[in-house]
Amino acid sequence: MALGFGPRSVVLTGANRGIGLELVRQLLGAAEPPQWIFACSREPDGERGKELRKLASSHPNVIIVKLDATNPVTIKEAATCIEGHLKGAGLNVLINNAGIFTDKELETLDPEDMLNAYKTNVVGPLLVSQAFLPLLKKAAKESAQDGLSCRKAAIINISSVLGSIESVPLNYSKPAVPYRCSKAALNMLTKCLSLSLKEDRVLCTAVHPGWVKTDMGTQEADLSVDESVRGIIGVLSKLGDTHNGVLVNWKGNNVPW
Ligand code: NDP
Repeated sequence: MALGFGPRSVVLTGANRGIGLELVRQLLGAAEPPQWIFACSREPDGERGKELRKLASSHPNVIIVKLDATNPVTIKEAATCIEGHLKGAGLNVLINNAGIFTDKELETLDPEDMLNAYKTNVVGPLLVSQAFLPLLKKAAKESAQDGLSCRKAAIINISSVLGSIESVPLNYSKPAVPYRCSKAALNMLTKCLSLSLKEDRVLCTAVHPGWVKTDMGTQEADLSVDESVRGIIGVLSKLGDTHNGVLVNWKGNNVPW
């Protein structure tokens, strides 16, 4: 059964493989597919962009946009390009999905490992959110709906339970210090954005996709990418005021910070 979703426009980072690519696929198959899916990738013309280019070639509502989450110039250029496509309309949903994982032992970690994780997983989502804020605020203003939702305007940060400090004793099988610290910071960024943008009526929620069989999650993971993304889209379609500034998993259950 096709899932309902609802927003008119969605921007997605890291859309060329893994969870991001599957989000594009399933959004296209949703009961109400977005009019615009801006699928961002840092190397859209390269080998890794092949699958996404194939999808876009048969779906005119998928627009591939170059965006490297660690490169402020490409972020600004992407925002300008997308604003042009929207022709005066606002942007309903931004999904900050791009991320990297570092799994070195504590003893061998160096400053670069920490900084790289922060650059992609925290500073990236911050810069991307800043760049798209005017368009998100515009969508919120244009909407006649009272409550917060993805149909109105939302920033969704794809985070991880590995960044949940309260969940650490249950999940400490992998130290992954840079990743855990960066996702904990992304969770805090989500909270800060949710408070700052409350008046503007832009929803901000962090989503844990589960442990998923992707290049990052490896084939040992619990969930297929199809299962995880099906869950995420179902959750996104139901998010409202009570989900502002919280971390939820792919089933829609709250995860402690
Ligand atoms: P993958 O490693 O399969 O894909 C990562 C995606 O992020 C790729 O599209 C990659 O692009 C992109 N990316 C990485 N760095 C940048 C950058 N600087 N700029 C733009 N794009 C970039 O990971 P998943 O699909 O599994 O993960 C997606 C999100 O889900 C991540 O935020 C991850 O932390 C989170 N997550 C994943 C879990 C899992 O089990 N898989 C569990 C919990 C959270 P490129 O191809 O160019 O490298």
